[in-house]
Amino acid sequence: MSRRHIGLVASIACLLALSPGPIRIRRAAPPPVAVLQTAERAPTPPATPSVPAPPPAIRHVIIISEDGLRPDVLSEDLTPRHMELMEEGTKARVAETIPESDTLPSHASMLSGFGAEEHGLWWNSYKSDRGYIHVPTVFSVAHAHALKTAMIVGKPKLRHIAVPKTVDHFERPSYLCGGVARRAGTYFASDKPDLLFVHFSDPDEYGHSHGWMSPEYLRAVHNSDRCLATLLDAIDKSELASSTLVIVTADHGGHGHRHSGGRRAAIDREIPWIIRGPGIPRGGIIPETIHTMDTAATTLAALRLPRTPNMGGFARLARETDVERDP
Ligand SMILES: [Zn+2]
Repeated sequence: MSRRHIGLVASIACLLALSPGPIRIRRAAPPPVAVLQTAERAPTPPATPSVPAPPPAIRHVIIISEDGLRPDVLSEDLTPRHMELMEEGTKARVAETIPESDTLPSHASMLSGFGAEEHGLWWNSYKSDRGYIHVPTVFSVAHAHALKTAMIVGKPKLRHIAVPKTVDHFERPSYLCGGVARRAGTYFASDKPDLLFVHFSDPDEYGHSHGWMSPEYLRAVHNSDRCLATLLDAIDKSELASSTLVIVTADHGGHGHRHSGGRRAAIDREIPWIIRGPGIPRGGIIPETIHTMDTAATTLAALRLPRTPNMGGFARLARETDVERDP
């Protein structure tokens, strides 16, 4: 390079350095808040266009499953806290579980986004020699991205979903929901898990022993409502309340003394589905049928985690434009 060229290059460099132009402005501009918040979480591939961007304030997700709770039993008299929750958030007009409407297969689909053929948990009791769910779960995906995961449950068979090293805390404080709700509330406030699954046994227990919709079943549903109130009180009093998404659902409905007829009896497949939290409309109704796999998809989207390849379900982080309201 000639001396003249060197002089020219030096002059241009000097001009650029002194220039108050766009280079300096671009460097000085702070990155947008959304970028900071995304970067704080694990790397996430771009969401598909059909998945709405999650509201930035969600930091914790709690999934509460009330075993055997039929959605048509919810009422002001029997389940006032559920009715309040629907006003605080959005509910599904119709929600259903998989055709294999039993506790273990259905929870496995709810927490993985896969059907029973893929997730492999087609039986319905705890069998220690049968190992664990065959597909990734919301817990395994969250744990792989350094989030803290927990399950506090009433039934031991749900351990088949807690693959070792994917659930940081697994606990069974009691069979019925009183002990589970109190412990889950205390644990959430003190240990601050990013993802918590809570399971109440009561409606199912009294449905089997006395029949779905019997007076004893209705009492158990009322008790489950009080357990939900206990847990929601603990969440709402905690410092995490404003950043927590809550999903309330169930694994199946039931009729007579059973609930296994999901292929023939729609009432065995019907479940409640209520979502409340940052950015979720108040008093909204999702018009499309919700499937239990949507719980897994919604949980992953809310925590900005990638979907498991080939999983089912849609993220249902409802916006005002997505919901209807009863007249
Ligand atoms: Zn069940």
